[in-house]
Amino acid sequence: MQKLLILGGGTAGTMMANKLIKALNNEEWEITIVDKYRTHYYQPGFLFIPFGIYNRHDVEKPKSNFFPAGVKVIYNDVDKIEPEQNQVLLDDGRVLYYNILIIATGTKTAPEETPGLKDKLWMKDIFDFYTVEGACALQRKFKQWEGGKLVMAITELPYKCPVAPLEFVFLADDYFTKKGIRDKVDITLVTPLPGAFTKPVATKMLSDLLKDKNINVVSEFYIESIDNDNKKLVSYDAKEVPFDLLTIVPVNMGDAMIERSGLGDDLNFVPTNKHTLQSDAHQNIFVLGDASNIPTSKAGSVAHFASEILFDNIIDYIEGRPLSASFDGHANCYIETGFGKGALIDFNYETEPLPGTFPLPGIGPFGLLKNTKINHYGKIMFRWIYWHILLKGKELPIDADMSMAGKKRISF
Ligand SMILES: Cc1cc2nc3c(=O)[nH]c(=O)nc-3n(C[C@H](O)[C@H](O)[C@H](O)COP(=O)(O)OP(=O)(O)OC[C@H]3O[C@@H](n4cnc5c(N)ncnc54)[C@H](O)[C@@H]3O)c2cc1C
Repeated sequence: MQKLLILGGGTAGTMMANKLIKALNNEEWEITIVDKYRTHYYQPGFLFIPFGIYNRHDVEKPKSNFFPAGVKVIYNDVDKIEPEQNQVLLDDGRVLYYNILIIATGTKTAPEETPGLKDKLWMKDIFDFYTVEGACALQRKFKQWEGGKLVMAITELPYKCPVAPLEFVFLADDYFTKKGIRDKVDITLVTPLPGAFTKPVATKMLSDLLKDKNINVVSEFYIESIDNDNKKLVSYDAKEVPFDLLTIVPVNMGDAMIERSGLGDDLNFVPTNKHTLQSDAHQNIFVLGDASNIPTSKAGSVAHFASEILFDNIIDYIEGRPLSASFDGHANCYIETGFGKGALIDFNYETEPLPGTFPLPGIGPFGLLKNTKINHYGKIMFRWIYWHILLKGKELPIDADMSMAGKKRISF
C-alpha cells in the first residue's frame, strides 16, 4: 500500500483530503491526515467577533464534519518530519511512513517574539483578533470601553489575510459611530508598509477610504517593542505611537515542528516552488496554504486556488510525469469596509489588484476596488461557501488562474 500523508487538517489539508480521496484508488493508496486539534475555525469570521457581529459558535465546527470517509484521521501533535527516512514522528511516539507528504500546518501568531507584547497589558488593554480567544476578549472589552486612542498595529510581514487589519479599522469606525462615541475614539492603523496596502492602485483606493472615514495611518513603522508603562509602541528607529487600546497582529510563524525538522526559513515557512508547490528540498514533499513561503497572500482563497494546481501535480507525480500545473499566485479577497459595504481585490504574482468587475466582465456582480453593498454580501456569503463548498473540495465557478477579463489597467 502506498501512503499519502497530510500534516494539518485546517483549510488546506481538509480541501486536499477531499479532492484526493475521490481520485486515488483506495486499494493502492492510503490517505492519512494528522492534526493536533479537533475544532475547525472559520478564521475570516474572527474579524467580526470583536464587534459582536459573530460569536464563537459562529466560527467553529468539529473537524470531523469535513474529513471524508475513507481518510484515516489521527489527532496528535506532529513532533518532527524526517525527510531522509520518509517518516513523521508524532508526539505520542508513533511513526508514520509516507510516499508522498503534504505539509499544510499553516501559520500561527507568536506574540512572544515582540518584547513587551505578552506583558501586563496583554488581554487587558492589548489584544489580537487572530485567535478566537483574542477576538472574544476584545468583544468583551469593546462592550465597556468608553473611548480613547484605538491603535491597530501590524508587527511584521508576512501575516495571514493582509487586508484584515484594514477591515478591522473600517469596522471599528462603523461600530463606534453606531455606539454614538465615534467622536471620542481616535483610530490609527500602524503598518510596516509604505501605505495602506502593498500595491499602488489598491493603496490609492484604500487610502482615500481611510481618509474619508477619518482613520489615521502611520506607515513604515517597524515595531521593536511595546512600552506597557507608558502605553506606547516603539519602533526600531525610536519613533513612538501612544495607545489606550491596542489591537495587534503579532509576528506570524510556521509551526515549531518545521524548525525541528530543519525544513523552514527563519520564520519556519517551508521553501516551496511558487509554481509547482513542491518543496525546494524534497521531491516527494508538497506544501499547501500558509505553511509555504510562496510570495502571495496567506489566505484561504489562495489555498483553494492552489489546491487545484497541487491536485493536478500530485496526480502527475504519482503517474511519473513531469509536474504540469503551474500556480500563478491567484488571490481573491473581500474587504469589509463598514456600514454594510465592502471592496474586492483579485490579483496574482504578476498583476496587482486592478479596478473592474468580477467574475463577469462588465456585469460583475462584484466590483473590483469599488466600495459596494454587493461586495459586502459576497463577504457574508463566503462563510457558507467555505463550510459547504471550499472545505469539501468542491469546484467553484472561478478559475484557479487569475483572469484579466473585466479588469482595467490604470496608471497614475
Ligand atoms: C482574522 C483572520 C481573517 C482572515 N480573513 C480571510 C479572508 O477574508 N479570506 C481568506 O481567504 N482568508 C482569510 N484568512 C486566512 C485564512 O483563514 C488562512 O489563510 C487559511 O485558513 C490557511 O489555511 P491552512 O490550512 O494553511 O492553515 P490552517 O487553516 O490554520 O490549518 C493549519 C492546521 O495545522 C494544524 N497543525 C499545525 N501544526 C501542527 C502540528 N505540529 N501537529 C499537528 N497539527 C498541526 C493546526 O491545528 C491547523 O488545524 C483570515 C485569517 C484570519 C486569522
